[in-house]
Amino acid sequence: MRLTPATWLIFLLLTSGCAQSKPAAAASATAGEDKPVTPTPATPTQVVAPAVDANRAFQYVKEIVAIGPRPPGSSGHKKEESYIKNHLKGDAVENDTFSAKTPAGKFALNNIIAKYPGAKDCIYVVGSHYETNYPLKNYVGANDGGSTSGLQLELANHLRGKKHEGCSVWLVWFDGEEAFDKWSPTDSLYGSKHLSEKWKSEGTAKKIKALILLDMIGDADLGIDRDDNSDQKLLNTIYDAASQLGYQSHFYARELAIEDDHLPFKNVGVPVADLIDYDYGYNNAFHHTSEDTLDKLSPKSLQIVGDVVLNTLQRLDAQ
Ligand code: ZN
Repeated sequence: MRLTPATWLIFLLLTSGCAQSKPAAAASATAGEDKPVTPTPATPTQVVAPAVDANRAFQYVKEIVAIGPRPPGSSGHKKEESYIKNHLKGDAVENDTFSAKTPAGKFALNNIIAKYPGAKDCIYVVGSHYETNYPLKNYVGANDGGSTSGLQLELANHLRGKKHEGCSVWLVWFDGEEAFDKWSPTDSLYGSKHLSEKWKSEGTAKKIKALILLDMIGDADLGIDRDDNSDQKLLNTIYDAASQLGYQSHFYARELAIEDDHLPFKNVGVPVADLIDYDYGYNNAFHHTSEDTLDKLSPKSLQIVGDVVLNTLQRLDAQ
């Protein structure tokens, strides 16, 4: 993923202060535009979030990271695919396999989809990319690729075998999010572009009521950014969930515009939200470096995001 170019200056300004500090108030990344709607305070509801098992989620992340680098075309990538599917045994799992033409050549990529059926003819998608950055060497992507892939396996544990009165929930592990050479409209988001087009042509896209994307949310110093490219109403519902659970201080202290796997789905009319903590280490020093390792992550961060996602799905059903 990357920041929309105009956002870079704001990001650098915001992150050039003292280490670990975060701006207390949101700063608009796009000058001259109307500010998005302020999040509404949480209202008391009957909704109760099942708590995800933070240690189990972290164990998944640990085992995925232990595979080593997992870029497309590598043995690590194959191992991770098997690891994910082995933990989804008995679930309705689909592979969306396709060939991608990239600046580094042709690659067979595969989005993994696990479907948990609901009573209604509508769908919520929770997704994140599972591959690690192709050009980087000695890079295990603990946060970027690892944290969300593991957390989604834990979410599967909570969705499996339950009767969902509302929409179906589909978990997607996207392939090929990262650029193979340099991020551009053509060299990025391979898996999400492919799947969004497929779901558009099949008529699936219009049944998707919300797509929540997770990226880099394992950071022990968790601060989810408010993404200007996301659906503001959906972001507010997520904030309400976070507030109910007492996690609101981890949400939306900063506003950025993020280009990530949610955008291809936004382009086919799906309401999308990207939950991402772009501030990873001092001046984002751990992002896309060999410093993106397990010791920077915290089980608690996985739990916060996991619980908020599950609570949000319940809220969406109640809307
Ligand atoms: Zn990345």
